[in-house]
Amino acid sequence: MWGVKIGVLALQGDFREHKLMLQGLGVEVVEVRKPQHLREVAGLIVPGGESTTIGKLAKEYDLDKAVRRRVEEGSLAVWGTCAGAIWLAKEIIGYPDQLKAGILDISIHRNAFGRQVESFEEDLEVKGLDRPFHAVFIRAPVIQKTGPGLEVLAKKGGQVVFVRQGKILASSFHPELTGDPRLHSMFLGLCD
Ligand code: GLN
Repeated sequence: MWGVKIGVLALQGDFREHKLMLQGLGVEVVEVRKPQHLREVAGLIVPGGESTTIGKLAKEYDLDKAVRRRVEEGSLAVWGTCAGAIWLAKEIIGYPDQLKAGILDISIHRNAFGRQVESFEEDLEVKGLDRPFHAVFIRAPVIQKTGPGLEVLAKKGGQVVFVRQGKILASSFHPELTGDPRLHSMFLGLCD
C-alpha cells in the first residue's frame, strides 16, 4: 500500500510491537541489526526499551554511524519512541557519556515524570490529528529544550512529549501499544 520498506531497530526493546503496527498498515518491515539492513529502508523506527543498552549495542554494530550518515544525506526518516527518542537526542541531561546517535536538536531528561507516576496513560492532543491520541508513558523522558526548526507536536501538562524536525520524529510515549495506527501513518508520510 505504501510502497516503501521501513526498518525497525531490533537490538533491544519492544520492536515487535512496532513491526506489527507497520504490518497492519500494509508496510514491508525490515528488522535492522546491522548497517546493511538499512540499505533499502526509507524510514527507521527506534523503539522503547532501555536507552543505555540500545546506545551500546548500536555503537557495537556501527549502526549509530550508519544512521547518522543516512540522516545527513537526507535519505532516511527516523522516529524514536521513548528510549528511542533518548538515543536520537543531541543532549541527554545528566548523562553526558551515554552513547547515542545525537541527530536531533533536543535536550532530553530521562525518567522525568518521577517515581510516583513512573507509568501512566493519557489522551493527548496531537498537532495534525483531529481527535486525541491515547498515549502510554512508561518511565518516560521529557524533552526539555528544542533547537531551531523544531516543531512541538504534543505536550503533557506543559511538558514537551512529541516533536518533529524535518524527517525526524521523537515521542516520549509508546504509540505502538494501543492499536491506534495514526502516528505510524504520520511517520510513513515522512518516508519517501
Ligand atoms: N527509562 C528508559 C530509559 O531511560 C526508557 C523507558 C522506555 O523506553 N519505556 O532508557
